[in-house]
Amino acid sequence: MDLSYEPITLRLETPFRIAHGVSETRHNVLVRLTDGPWTGLGEAAPVRQHHETQADVQAYLAGVSLPGDDPFQLETVLASLPAGSRAARAALDIALHDLVAQRLGVPLYRLWGLDPACAPCTSFTLGIGPVDEVRQRAAEAAEQFPILKLKLDADEDHSLALVRAVARATSARLLVDANCAWTVDQALRLIPRLADLGVEFVEQPLAEDDLDGLRRLRPASPLPIFADEPVRAAADIPRLADCVDGVSIKVMKAGGLREALRAIAVARAHGLQVMVSCMVETSVGITAAAHLSPLADWADLDGHLLISNDPYTGVGVDRGRLVLPQDPGLGVEPRP
Ligand code: MG
Repeated sequence: MDLSYEPITLRLETPFRIAHGVSETRHNVLVRLTDGPWTGLGEAAPVRQHHETQADVQAYLAGVSLPGDDPFQLETVLASLPAGSRAARAALDIALHDLVAQRLGVPLYRLWGLDPACAPCTSFTLGIGPVDEVRQRAAEAAEQFPILKLKLDADEDHSLALVRAVARATSARLLVDANCAWTVDQALRLIPRLADLGVEFVEQPLAEDDLDGLRRLRPASPLPIFADEPVRAAADIPRLADCVDGVSIKVMKAGGLREALRAIAVARAHGLQVMVSCMVETSVGITAAAHLSPLADWADLDGHLLISNDPYTGVGVDRGRLVLPQDPGLGVEPRP
């Protein structure tokens, strides 16, 4: 198998502001694994919260030598990868899965025994901004997406004003993500008011490591609480099981589809709801995650819809519902 890769700069349609900061571009890496007539595609989406950069991913890939020539030995090949960039390992894992499913002539979901009709609706995420601007973007998004996720931050009045404006302007179902921005007291003040506005769950209200805070908050919260930032791999989930109602699983955080599958199984074993979500990625990374989505209660797989220069097409969206490609492998094609 021959490995090649190229950096790619993704341009966000609208500058994307969340509690962690704002960005206008993202710097990913596309990976190709070629095996005779087949080419598997993968993508790495490094993010600063994980202390990974595009250069780190490229440095990791430059040092990789894949053992043997059998992509079907996924466990052995992936276990042989050195520790380091999770995004780079995710890219290799995605490319191997694409290659294997192409060689078997089946879409990836079928390799896992999943029913594409069980793929959930994806939410569409709206970054933080002035109330009028977010209301306008929400009204446009709600024409296509029945579930909207609003990013909120520590400004309580502005957060409530955003949710109130979007609840009035659309009939979409609403989720919110505070990206670690609130204290327990803020969360205790805000969540009942968000519940009154029709919000269905709150993602990562507190700091990443504040599990004691979550244990105080959860019994008092009228809404389910989801953890995102503290959940990377399967081993992170058991300690969260008595703190939250659900977890957000991302292929880039897990370091690949295989670990994401394990994380979903561990979450289920602890009775947790599962959301499959994403970074800002092209259709390569998003389609890979979408093939897992029939296993999830919720999907937030809109990262490719936030950029203006996606070089590929893959998973579709029909009134919010994810439509998995039927072609072998990921089913991703260069955009015509
Ligand atoms: Mg989140």
